[in-house]
Amino acid sequence: LIVEDDETIGSVLASTLTDHGHEVIWHRLGGEALAEAAATPLEFILLDLGLPDLDGIEVCRQLRILHPEAVLVMLTARTEEMDVVVGLEAGADDYLTKPVRFGELLARLRAHLRRVAPPPGLRGRQATAGDLTVDTAGRRVMVSGRELSLRTKEFDLLARLIANPGIAVSRETLMSQVWDEHWFGPTKTLDVHVAVLRRKLAEMAEFGSVPRIVTLRGHGYRLDPPAR
Ligand code: CA
Repeated sequence: LIVEDDETIGSVLASTLTDHGHEVIWHRLGGEALAEAAATPLEFILLDLGLPDLDGIEVCRQLRILHPEAVLVMLTARTEEMDVVVGLEAGADDYLTKPVRFGELLARLRAHLRRVAPPPGLRGRQATAGDLTVDTAGRRVMVSGRELSLRTKEFDLLARLIANPGIAVSRETLMSQVWDEHWFGPTKTLDVHVAVLRRKLAEMAEFGSVPRIVTLRGHGYRLDPPAR
């Protein structure tokens, strides 16, 4: 699903994706897109944040509710930095800045549509830290028997970090293994996903002991199991 009111950008996006074998639906208005999304199975959503009828962030939030499993990528102007953070918090998986570079768009699309394989040695197994269990085969996260609902990239990020508890993982490794093996460009997406993950873990702390994600300035992140 493409949601873009700009005729030129929308038609180029639609024809590029169609040429690459994707079935494309294009809507110019947020309201139309939401009506479509309520009735149609969707795998990938490209959402322009600057829409004439509705607030793009609100459209993002509602699309995420309608399609929790779809990959949602925002399109935004370079200057709308706050929108990026708010949009990622509202449920977007990633963002692209305008003008859209099509090589980058197609690379992101490929990277997102292929689910990240669990780290070797973790396949079909469960990893635990304190009362938190990550089941990579079933793609489920439990804290003392309660399921923690995570979006695709949040799950992949947690699974990657918990594969090596107590060990630093660089930003580059996380970006390449969780997002795109040929990642280039900004990595704000990573920080926002970590922030959301931390908040969700903190919300589960009342049910059991959960690990902590530690920021390693200038390097990356480390998952520390809870203290006994
Ligand atoms: Ca627009």
